[in-house]
Amino acid sequence: MYPVACIDLAALSHNFNRVKELAPNSLVMSVIKANAYGHGAVEVAHVLAKSDAFAVARLDEALELRMSGIKQPIVILEGVHSSEELQFAAEHDLSLVFHQVSQLELVINTTLTSPLKLCWLMLETGMHRLGLTTNEACDALTIMSESNAISGSVGVMSHFASADEVGDSRNQQQLDLISTFAKKYELEISMANSAALLSLPDSHADWVRPGLMLYGISPFDDQSAAELGLKPVMKLCSKIIATQILKEGDQVGYSGTWLADKPTFVGIVDIGYADGYSRQLSNSGSVSISGQICAVLGRVSMDMIAVDLTEVNTVSIGDKVILWGDEHLPVERIAAQANTISYELVSQINPRVKRDYHHG
Ligand SMILES: *Cc1c(COP(=O)(O)O)cnc(C)c1O
Repeated sequence: MYPVACIDLAALSHNFNRVKELAPNSLVMSVIKANAYGHGAVEVAHVLAKSDAFAVARLDEALELRMSGIKQPIVILEGVHSSEELQFAAEHDLSLVFHQVSQLELVINTTLTSPLKLCWLMLETGMHRLGLTTNEACDALTIMSESNAISGSVGVMSHFASADEVGDSRNQQQLDLISTFAKKYELEISMANSAALLSLPDSHADWVRPGLMLYGISPFDDQSAAELGLKPVMKLCSKIIATQILKEGDQVGYSGTWLADKPTFVGIVDIGYADGYSRQLSNSGSVSISGQICAVLGRVSMDMIAVDLTEVNTVSIGDKVILWGDEHLPVERIAAQANTISYELVSQINPRVKRDYHHG
Protein backbone atom coordinates (compact mmCIF):
# COMPACT_ATOMS: atom_id res chain seq x y z
CA MET A 1 0.00 0.00 0.00
CA TYR A 2 1.32 3.43 -0.95
CA PRO A 3 2.14 6.01 0.25
CA VAL A 4 4.19 4.34 2.98
CA ALA A 5 6.89 5.42 5.41
CA CYS A 6 9.28 2.47 5.70
CA ILE A 7 10.91 2.54 9.12
CA ASP A 8 14.21 0.68 9.46
CA LEU A 9 14.40 -0.45 13.08
CA ALA A 10 17.94 -1.82 12.62
CA ALA A 11 19.08 1.68 11.62
CA LEU A 12 17.32 3.05 14.71
CA SER A 13 19.28 0.64 16.96
CA HIS A 14 22.49 1.53 15.12
CA ASN A 15 21.94 5.24 15.80
CA PHE A 16 21.20 4.54 19.46
CA ASN A 17 24.50 2.63 19.71
CA ARG A 18 26.19 5.63 18.12
CA VAL A 19 24.78 7.78 20.97
CA LYS A 20 26.23 5.34 23.55
CA GLU A 21 29.57 5.38 21.73
CA LEU A 22 29.76 9.19 21.72
CA ALA A 23 28.52 9.67 25.30
CA PRO A 24 29.60 6.50 27.11
CA ASN A 25 29.39 8.02 30.59
CA SER A 26 25.95 9.60 30.28
CA LEU A 27 22.48 8.22 30.79
CA VAL A 28 20.30 8.45 27.68
CA MET A 29 16.90 10.13 27.60
CA SER A 30 15.64 9.28 24.11
CA VAL A 31 13.41 12.06 22.77
CA ILE A 32 10.34 10.54 21.11
CA LYS A 33 7.90 13.48 21.18
CA ALA A 34 5.63 14.16 18.19
CA ASN A 35 5.14 10.45 17.54
CA ALA A 36 8.93 9.96 17.58
CA TYR A 37 9.39 12.67 14.96
CA GLY A 38 6.81 10.89 12.79
CA HIS A 39 8.42 7.44 13.12
CA GLY A 40 5.86 5.96 15.56
CA ALA A 41 6.49 6.54 19.28
CA VAL A 42 5.39 3.16 20.64
CA GLU A 43 7.38 1.11 18.10
CA VAL A 44 10.43 3.34 18.54
CA ALA A 45 10.25 3.09 22.35
CA HIS A 46 10.16 -0.70 22.19
CA VAL A 47 13.25 -0.80 19.97
CA LEU A 48 15.08 1.74 22.14
CA ALA A 49 14.38 -0.29 25.29
CA LYS A 50 17.92 0.31 26.54
CA SER A 51 17.13 4.01 26.99
CA ASP A 52 17.40 5.12 30.61
CA ALA A 53 14.34 7.33 30.06
CA PHE A 54 12.12 8.69 27.31
CA ALA A 55 11.13 12.31 26.76
CA VAL A 56 7.92 13.58 25.17
CA ALA A 57 6.42 17.07 24.99
CA ARG A 58 2.94 16.47 26.45
CA LEU A 59 0.99 14.41 28.94
CA ASP A 60 -1.05 12.64 26.24
CA GLU A 61 2.10 11.44 24.53
CA ALA A 62 3.42 10.09 27.83
CA LEU A 63 0.15 8.32 28.62
CA GLU A 64 0.11 6.63 25.21
CA LEU A 65 3.55 5.17 25.94
CA ARG A 66 2.66 4.09 29.49
CA MET A 67 -0.57 2.44 28.31
CA SER A 68 1.34 0.50 25.69
CA GLY A 69 3.56 -1.06 28.34
CA ILE A 70 6.64 1.18 28.33
CA LYS A 71 8.21 0.79 31.80
CA GLN A 72 11.08 3.31 31.69
CA PRO A 73 10.79 6.77 33.22
CA ILE A 74 8.89 9.06 30.81
CA VAL A 75 9.72 12.75 31.12
CA ILE A 76 7.11 15.33 30.04
CA LEU A 77 9.23 18.21 28.75
CA GLU A 78 6.45 20.80 28.95
CA GLY A 79 5.31 19.57 32.36
CA VAL A 80 1.65 19.73 33.43
CA HIS A 81 -0.72 22.67 33.62
CA SER A 82 -3.51 21.73 36.04
CA SER A 83 -4.11 19.74 39.25
CA GLU A 84 -5.91 17.03 37.25
CA GLU A 85 -2.95 16.64 34.94
CA LEU A 86 -0.56 16.57 37.89
CA GLN A 87 -2.64 13.85 39.58
CA PHE A 88 -2.74 11.87 36.33
CA ALA A 89 1.00 12.16 35.85
CA ALA A 90 1.69 10.96 39.39
CA GLU A 91 -0.73 8.03 39.08
CA HIS A 92 1.01 6.85 35.93
CA ASP A 93 4.48 7.35 37.33
CA LEU A 94 5.40 10.04 34.80
CA SER A 95 8.31 12.43 35.34
CA LEU A 96 7.74 16.15 35.13
CA VAL A 97 9.71 19.15 34.02
CA PHE A 98 8.96 22.34 35.97
CA HIS A 99 9.64 25.44 33.95
CA GLN A 100 7.12 27.90 35.39
CA VAL A 101 6.44 28.99 38.97
CA SER A 102 2.72 28.18 38.56
CA GLN A 103 3.64 24.51 38.03
CA LEU A 104 5.28 24.45 41.47
CA GLU A 105 2.21 26.06 42.99
CA LEU A 106 0.24 23.09 41.64
CA VAL A 107 2.50 20.78 43.63
CA ILE A 108 1.88 22.79 46.79
CA ASN A 109 -1.89 22.94 46.25
CA THR A 110 -2.59 19.37 45.12
CA THR A 111 -2.82 16.36 47.41
CA LEU A 112 -1.32 13.55 45.38
CA THR A 113 -2.32 9.93 45.90
CA SER A 114 1.17 8.79 44.87
CA PRO A 115 4.36 10.88 44.91
CA LEU A 116 6.29 12.07 41.85
CA LYS A 117 9.65 10.49 41.07
CA LEU A 118 12.56 11.88 39.01
CA CYS A 119 11.63 15.51 38.47
CA TRP A 120 13.48 18.12 36.45
CA LEU A 121 13.81 21.85 36.76
CA MET A 122 14.14 23.64 33.44
CA LEU A 123 16.62 26.47 33.88
CA GLU A 124 16.54 29.55 31.66
CA THR A 125 20.04 29.86 30.17
CA GLY A 126 19.49 31.78 26.95
CA MET A 127 16.76 30.16 24.86
CA HIS A 128 13.99 32.26 26.45
CA ARG A 129 11.32 29.70 25.74
CA LEU A 130 10.77 27.52 28.81
CA GLY A 131 12.77 27.98 31.99
CA LEU A 132 12.98 29.29 35.54
CA THR A 133 15.39 32.07 36.44
CA THR A 134 18.18 31.10 38.82
CA ASN A 135 16.26 32.67 41.74
CA GLU A 136 13.01 30.90 40.82
CA ALA A 137 14.85 27.60 40.45
CA CYS A 138 16.46 28.09 43.85
CA ASP A 139 13.01 28.65 45.45
CA ALA A 140 11.69 25.66 43.53
CA LEU A 141 14.32 23.43 45.12
CA THR A 142 13.19 24.56 48.57
CA ILE A 143 9.54 23.87 47.71
CA MET A 144 10.42 20.46 46.30
CA SER A 145 12.53 19.39 49.25
CA GLU A 146 9.77 20.41 51.70
CA SER A 147 6.97 18.77 49.72
CA ASN A 148 6.12 15.13 50.33
CA ALA A 149 4.59 15.08 46.85
CA ILE A 150 8.09 14.55 45.45
CA SER A 151 9.99 11.46 46.49
CA GLY A 152 12.57 10.99 43.75
CA SER A 153 15.67 12.86 42.68
CA VAL A 154 15.56 16.33 41.13
CA GLY A 155 17.79 17.23 38.19
CA VAL A 156 18.33 20.40 36.23
CA MET A 157 17.99 20.68 32.47
CA SER A 158 18.22 23.41 29.88
CA HIS A 159 18.09 23.57 26.10
CA PHE A 160 20.65 24.97 23.64
CA ALA A 161 19.36 27.65 21.28
CA SER A 162 22.20 27.27 18.76
CA ALA A 163 23.78 23.86 19.24
CA ASP A 164 23.80 23.30 15.48
CA GLU A 165 26.08 26.32 15.11
CA VAL A 166 29.27 24.57 16.15
CA GLY A 167 31.71 26.78 18.04
CA ASP A 168 29.14 29.53 18.73
CA SER A 169 30.19 31.14 22.04
CA ARG A 170 26.56 31.28 23.24
CA ASN A 171 26.63 27.49 23.65
CA GLN A 172 29.47 27.72 26.16
CA GLN A 173 27.66 30.55 28.00
CA GLN A 174 24.53 28.41 28.39
CA LEU A 175 26.64 25.48 29.56
CA ASP A 176 28.47 27.64 32.12
CA LEU A 177 25.16 28.88 33.56
CA ILE A 178 23.70 25.42 34.11
CA SER A 179 26.99 24.01 35.39
CA THR A 180 27.32 26.72 38.03
CA PHE A 181 23.75 26.20 39.19
CA ALA A 182 24.00 22.41 39.28
CA LYS A 183 27.29 22.48 41.16
CA LYS A 184 25.93 24.79 43.84
CA TYR A 185 22.99 22.47 44.59
CA GLU A 186 24.64 19.16 43.63
CA LEU A 187 22.08 18.34 40.94
CA GLU A 188 22.30 16.03 37.94
CA ILE A 189 22.53 17.90 34.63
CA SER A 190 20.85 17.27 31.28
CA MET A 191 21.77 19.67 28.49
CA ALA A 192 22.78 17.97 25.23
CA ASN A 193 20.41 17.56 22.28
CA SER A 194 21.70 15.77 19.16
CA ALA A 195 23.80 18.65 17.84
CA ALA A 196 25.53 19.14 21.20
CA LEU A 197 25.95 15.41 21.69
CA LEU A 198 27.76 15.25 18.33
CA SER A 199 29.85 18.41 18.61
CA LEU A 200 30.22 19.51 22.23
CA PRO A 201 31.44 16.66 24.49
CA ASP A 202 31.63 19.03 27.49
CA SER A 203 27.84 19.24 27.39
CA HIS A 204 27.18 15.50 27.78
CA ALA A 205 27.01 15.62 31.59
CA ASP A 206 24.74 13.14 33.44
CA TRP A 207 21.96 12.75 30.88
CA VAL A 208 21.98 13.34 27.11
CA ARG A 209 18.70 14.04 25.26
CA PRO A 210 19.08 12.99 21.62
CA GLY A 211 16.13 13.20 19.25
CA LEU A 212 16.99 13.90 15.61
CA MET A 213 20.16 11.78 15.45
CA LEU A 214 18.28 8.69 16.64
CA TYR A 215 16.31 8.94 13.40
CA GLY A 216 19.54 9.05 11.39
CA ILE A 217 19.31 12.71 10.44
CA SER A 218 22.15 15.23 10.63
CA PRO A 219 21.52 18.45 12.58
CA PHE A 220 24.32 20.23 10.69
CA ASP A 221 24.17 21.93 7.30
CA ASP A 222 27.75 21.00 6.44
CA GLN A 223 27.92 17.37 7.64
CA SER A 224 25.84 14.51 6.28
CA ALA A 225 24.30 11.79 8.44
CA ALA A 226 26.70 9.29 6.84
CA GLU A 227 29.68 11.44 7.82
CA LEU A 228 28.39 11.41 11.40
CA GLY A 229 28.03 7.62 11.35
CA LEU A 230 24.22 7.74 11.33
CA LYS A 231 21.80 5.68 9.23
CA PRO A 232 18.51 7.17 8.01
CA VAL A 233 15.50 5.44 9.57
CA MET A 234 12.58 6.72 7.45
CA LYS A 235 12.21 6.11 3.73
CA LEU A 236 9.08 7.76 2.33
CA CYS A 237 7.68 6.04 -0.75
CA SER A 238 4.71 6.22 -3.06
CA LYS A 239 3.86 5.22 -6.64
CA ILE A 240 3.02 6.58 -10.06
CA ILE A 241 -0.72 6.55 -10.67
CA ALA A 242 -0.87 8.36 -14.04
CA THR A 243 1.32 9.74 -16.82
CA GLN A 244 0.93 12.74 -19.11
CA ILE A 245 2.60 13.65 -22.38
CA LEU A 246 2.91 17.41 -22.57
CA LYS A 247 3.64 19.49 -25.62
CA GLU A 248 5.50 22.78 -25.58
CA GLY A 249 3.41 25.44 -23.81
CA ASP A 250 1.31 23.04 -21.69
CA GLN A 251 0.98 23.92 -18.03
CA VAL A 252 1.00 21.67 -14.94
CA GLY A 253 -1.13 21.79 -11.80
CA TYR A 254 -3.03 24.52 -9.95
CA SER A 255 -2.49 28.01 -11.38
CA GLY A 256 -0.24 26.51 -14.05
CA THR A 257 2.91 27.57 -12.27
CA TRP A 258 5.03 25.20 -14.39
CA LEU A 259 5.09 25.53 -18.16
CA ALA A 260 6.65 22.99 -20.57
CA ASP A 261 9.28 24.62 -22.82
CA LYS A 262 9.58 21.36 -24.79
CA PRO A 263 7.64 18.07 -25.08
CA THR A 264 7.77 16.54 -21.58
CA PHE A 265 6.82 13.17 -20.08
CA VAL A 266 5.17 13.74 -16.69
CA GLY A 267 4.30 11.30 -13.91
CA ILE A 268 1.61 11.83 -11.28
CA VAL A 269 2.67 10.51 -7.87
CA ASP A 270 0.25 9.54 -5.12
CA ILE A 271 1.29 11.85 -2.28
CA GLY A 272 0.28 15.39 -1.37
CA TYR A 273 0.15 17.97 1.35
CA ALA A 274 -2.72 16.14 3.10
CA ASP A 275 -0.23 13.34 3.77
CA GLY A 276 2.19 15.86 5.25
CA TYR A 277 4.30 16.23 2.09
CA SER A 278 5.23 19.89 2.23
CA ARG A 279 3.56 22.26 -0.23
CA GLN A 280 6.83 24.21 -0.01
CA LEU A 281 8.21 21.60 -2.41
CA SER A 282 6.08 23.03 -5.24
CA ASN A 283 8.42 23.58 -8.22
CA SER A 284 11.45 23.00 -5.97
CA GLY A 285 11.42 19.41 -4.70
CA SER A 286 12.82 16.25 -6.23
CA VAL A 287 12.01 12.55 -6.02
CA SER A 288 13.91 9.40 -6.94
CA ILE A 289 12.59 6.90 -9.50
CA SER A 290 14.69 3.87 -10.50
CA GLY A 291 17.77 5.66 -9.18
CA GLN A 292 17.07 8.82 -11.24
CA ILE A 293 16.42 12.16 -9.58
CA CYS A 294 13.27 13.79 -11.00
CA ALA A 295 11.99 17.33 -10.38
CA VAL A 296 8.61 18.16 -8.83
CA LEU A 297 6.66 20.14 -11.44
CA GLY A 298 4.09 22.78 -10.45
CA ARG A 299 2.24 22.96 -7.17
CA VAL A 300 1.90 20.14 -4.67
CA SER A 301 -1.82 19.19 -4.59
CA MET A 302 -3.71 17.77 -1.63
CA ASP A 303 -3.20 14.14 -2.70
CA MET A 304 -0.78 14.23 -5.63
CA ILE A 305 2.34 15.74 -7.17
CA ALA A 306 3.60 15.88 -10.75
CA VAL A 307 7.20 14.93 -11.54
CA ASP A 308 9.40 15.15 -14.64
CA LEU A 309 10.02 11.65 -16.05
CA THR A 310 12.19 12.80 -18.98
CA GLU A 311 15.38 11.23 -17.57
CA VAL A 312 13.77 7.93 -16.58
CA ASN A 313 14.16 5.18 -19.19
CA THR A 314 11.03 3.13 -18.74
CA VAL A 315 8.14 3.96 -16.47
CA SER A 316 4.89 2.13 -15.81
CA ILE A 317 1.86 2.90 -13.73
CA GLY A 318 2.45 1.52 -10.23
CA ASP A 319 6.23 2.12 -10.28
CA LYS A 320 7.73 3.02 -6.95
CA VAL A 321 8.76 6.61 -6.21
CA ILE A 322 11.05 7.54 -3.32
CA LEU A 323 10.23 10.93 -1.80
CA TRP A 324 13.19 10.83 0.58
CA GLY A 325 15.39 8.48 2.51
CA ASP A 326 17.53 6.72 -0.09
CA GLU A 327 21.25 7.50 -0.40
CA HIS A 328 20.74 9.84 -3.37
CA LEU A 329 17.94 11.74 -1.71
CA PRO A 330 18.42 12.17 2.04
CA VAL A 331 15.67 14.08 3.88
CA GLU A 332 18.21 16.81 4.70
CA ARG A 333 18.40 17.63 0.98
CA ILE A 334 14.60 17.75 0.62
CA ALA A 335 14.44 20.02 3.68
CA ALA A 336 16.78 22.47 1.96
CA GLN A 337 14.58 22.36 -1.17
CA ALA A 338 11.54 23.09 1.00
CA ASN A 339 13.31 25.90 2.81
CA THR A 340 12.79 24.19 6.14
CA ILE A 341 14.45 21.68 8.48
CA SER A 342 14.32 17.88 8.42
CA TYR A 343 12.55 17.91 11.80
CA GLU A 344 9.49 19.50 10.19
CA LEU A 345 9.35 17.20 7.18
CA VAL A 346 9.48 13.89 9.08
CA SER A 347 7.24 14.96 11.96
CA GLN A 348 4.56 16.24 9.56
CA ILE A 349 4.03 12.87 7.87
CA ASN A 350 0.60 12.06 9.26
CA PRO A 351 -1.43 8.88 9.95
CA ARG A 352 -2.80 8.89 6.39
CA VAL A 353 0.62 7.44 5.50
CA LYS A 354 1.04 3.87 6.74
CA ARG A 355 4.22 3.02 8.68
CA ASP A 356 5.89 -0.19 7.61
CA TYR A 357 8.40 -1.50 10.17
CA HIS A 358 11.28 -3.74 9.16
CA HIS A 359 14.80 -4.71 10.25
CA GLY A 360 17.60 -3.67 7.89
C1 LIG B 1 13.16 18.12 21.08
C2 LIG B 1 14.07 18.32 22.24
C3 LIG B 1 15.29 17.63 22.32
C4 LIG B 1 15.85 16.80 21.20
O1 LIG B 1 16.49 17.64 20.27
P1 LIG B 1 17.18 17.10 18.94
O2 LIG B 1 17.72 18.31 18.31
O3 LIG B 1 16.10 16.46 18.13
O4 LIG B 1 18.22 16.12 19.37
C5 LIG B 1 16.01 17.76 23.49
N1 LIG B 1 15.57 18.55 24.51
C6 LIG B 1 14.43 19.25 24.44
C7 LIG B 1 14.02 20.10 25.58
C8 LIG B 1 13.64 19.17 23.30
O5 LIG B 1 12.51 19.88 23.23
